[in-house]
Amino acid sequence: MVPAIDISLVHDLAAELGDFIRIPSVSSDPRRREDCRRAAIWLRDRLEAAGASPARLIETELHPAVFAHFPGPAGAPTVLVYGHYDVQPATASAWSSPPFEPEIREGRVYGRGSSDDKGNVLLPLAAVRAILAGGSSLGIGLKFLIEGEEEIGSPHLDALLAEHRKLFACDAAFCADGGMFGEDACSIAISARGGFVFRLWIKGPASDTHSGLVGGAVRNPIHELSDAIAGLHDREGRVAVEGFYDHVRPLESEERLELARLPFDEVRFVADYGRLHGESEYSVPERIGARPALDVISFHGGGGGGGGDDGVSAVVPSRAWATIMCRTVADQDPWVIRELVKQHIRRMMPEGLAFGFEEKDCFWDYRVPEGLPALGSAIKALEQIYGVKPLLCRDGGGLPLRRFQDNLGVSPVIFAFSRDSEGCHGYDEHFPLDGMRLGLASWTRLFQILGNARPTGDRL
Ligand SMILES: [Zn+2]
Repeated sequence: MVPAIDISLVHDLAAELGDFIRIPSVSSDPRRREDCRRAAIWLRDRLEAAGASPARLIETELHPAVFAHFPGPAGAPTVLVYGHYDVQPATASAWSSPPFEPEIREGRVYGRGSSDDKGNVLLPLAAVRAILAGGSSLGIGLKFLIEGEEEIGSPHLDALLAEHRKLFACDAAFCADGGMFGEDACSIAISARGGFVFRLWIKGPASDTHSGLVGGAVRNPIHELSDAIAGLHDREGRVAVEGFYDHVRPLESEERLELARLPFDEVRFVADYGRLHGESEYSVPERIGARPALDVISFHGGGGGGGGDDGVSAVVPSRAWATIMCRTVADQDPWVIRELVKQHIRRMMPEGLAFGFEEKDCFWDYRVPEGLPALGSAIKALEQIYGVKPLLCRDGGGLPLRRFQDNLGVSPVIFAFSRDSEGCHGYDEHFPLDGMRLGLASWTRLFQILGNARPTGDRL
């Protein structure tokens, strides 16, 4: 039977999410290190209050992870829920309300992390509380692993999983991060892209130099950087790096049909994001979900010197740099592709130019194995709550789920309720109360289905 979700439960959850958002756990900001710890402690205390034993922090070299265990009956399968409590930075001036002072407007909770990922993380916790408060037992052993470094590429997750294999051992895992396709379709993501980030810097004069002294006679690093970036794609927007697409797993016709079922609104998409670009032989959901991409995500140079930062200092800058991000897909090795992109840039550079690379993170794509029993359980839960069979979609972003396969031998199922339109990583991030209601009902249903799937974990 579909559990009825009391609307007061959703309002309590919104208030709780507000408390969580108020802790500015920006993992990339060294000044927020204590706030990250505070968020971890806040979450640990909530898990403990819900009955987890133990609920504790596990230290990493940077931000602690939160672990909690709700032990199940003897012989019951164990399920692990993964998510993250850290958030992206937020520039307050771009927001309608301060990012770390949550507000409920028009049925939505506004605040940094509301959708990615604090709201999603609180849903399974609230589901546990709802089940236990109703006098039922979970019927499964349940573990939570909520990390604090996802937004900086989960640099210590591998070591954490490897070091605590026994603690995290489970029969099935669910990722409470990611989301559903479009505005309101019921869907479940079966893959996420991998990728890498690196910085390309180019040097010009030894210091920012008066453009009246050297302009027109020396290499300008911004011009050189622009040339290099322009050479990454052809006019249509295909990546021009030799070998870039060589190993991309082709889409089967059935997969194309599945993606074509998604309610994609091209007019709306163009209105929101601008003119289409890229591989025209693929649909937009295919380009984003199943094809790789190479994007410049920031570009810097000039504007400084003695004239302030208003961009009109009359200097030829000494240095320019850009951050380049690649999104890779199945069968592309991101380490190999990174080398190809760097080689391509090296070949384009004029002789004698000083340039270099700084490598940031590099991570694998992820695919939920076909026929995974836990995926079947998730589909069943969503179908019962939404009243329709979920469509299978692809997450165009990255999730560190290959690391669970490598270290724990378990393939997490992406079970999350965010939407693209919710401002994740951007401004005015929000999580709708209705999404919370459906998410809470879906997690509750999922736990009930898993609790009934005795006796062995492999039937989860
Ligand atoms: Zn996230």
